[in-house]
Amino acid sequence: MTTTPLQKQSLILIVDDEPFMRAQLRLSLQCEGYRTAEAQDGREALAIFHELQPDIVLLDAIMPDMDGFECCTRLQLLDDSQYTPILMITGLEDQESVDRAFDVGAIDYVTKPIHWPVLRQRVKRLIQQSQLQQKLEVANRELQRLVTIDELTQIANRRRFEEYCAQEWQRMAREQLPLSLILCDVDFFKSYNDTYGHRAGDRCLQFVAKAIQDTVKRPADLVARYGGEEFAVILPRTYGDGALHIANRICAAVRKLAIPHSNSKIGNYVTISAGVATEIPQPNSDFQDIIDAADRALYQAKVAGRDRSEQYIQQSSSPVFFMNPSPQLA
Ligand code: GH3
Ligand code: MG
Ligand code: MG
Repeated sequence: MTTTPLQKQSLILIVDDEPFMRAQLRLSLQCEGYRTAEAQDGREALAIFHELQPDIVLLDAIMPDMDGFECCTRLQLLDDSQYTPILMITGLEDQESVDRAFDVGAIDYVTKPIHWPVLRQRVKRLIQQSQLQQKLEVANRELQRLVTIDELTQIANRRRFEEYCAQEWQRMAREQLPLSLILCDVDFFKSYNDTYGHRAGDRCLQFVAKAIQDTVKRPADLVARYGGEEFAVILPRTYGDGALHIANRICAAVRKLAIPHSNSKIGNYVTISAGVATEIPQPNSDFQDIIDAADRALYQAKVAGRDRSEQYIQQSSSPVFFMNPSPQLA
């Protein structure tokens, strides 16, 4: 079986008010192996475009009611039309019509009477270009995803965290609303690796990441892998009480995973500690402030016995830490 090149399976929408012209175009393009659809005026073209999503439009400039120029303008306002090239066919070779065709967004034009070898080449090249552009777009999106995702846990990576934290810090500064940050760190993880091996350690991090992700609900919240066995949660528009509540739920969710850790010094299962900080960012301040504050709270949670969350609250110039009830009560 012979394979058909991709561009030959493409669908071409022919828009022309003259039936003879449409027939000529249809026959010559079908001879090339393309599929075709036809419209006899601009209005019909819009409806068919919407329904069939053609790969290219051959558009007659002069038609009654809605002419090719207006149709071209309207086509581009439709969803999913951004990659579809529009090739204008005009009997008018004057400068003004050609300029107008480009002004309204046609990618190229051919003139009537049609020079068939030229049309053939233009159609082929335009379809190839648009397919290439779409592939590039898909590849770019995937690349964008890859550079912001942590490979092991499939949550946001440090880079994405920094980017989002900076962005939300600025947004909250403008809106004068609170931004909360939770930093989490797996307790006694070095001894977990030493006991169960590095691969088991990796799997443990995957479970912990998922437990944190599943606890956080709002679309604007971001869970990221901050470092080796550290995770960060950004909570825009969230006051301290709410953030602390979420931090406690995260600790509880990890506890509930009940991943055995025989060498944990505080029990038999994997646990995490969390530090919470909340700020309404001041203009010209730095988002590093809130990271430092959450880090200090995390340190306090470790010192206070681990498997718990601590909140950092700045009062006048001296920081105050709020202890939480014991984890079993949280
Ligand atoms: P603490 O309770 O004070 O947090 O003690 P800890 O042992 O968890 O802390 P420490 O910083 O001493 O050790 C962190 C360990 O995390 C050491 C490192 O080997 C391990 N780790 C970091 N990244 C990864 C990873 O991607 N996979 C695995 N398996 N281990 C990791
Ligand atoms: Mg650590
Ligand atoms: Mg640790």
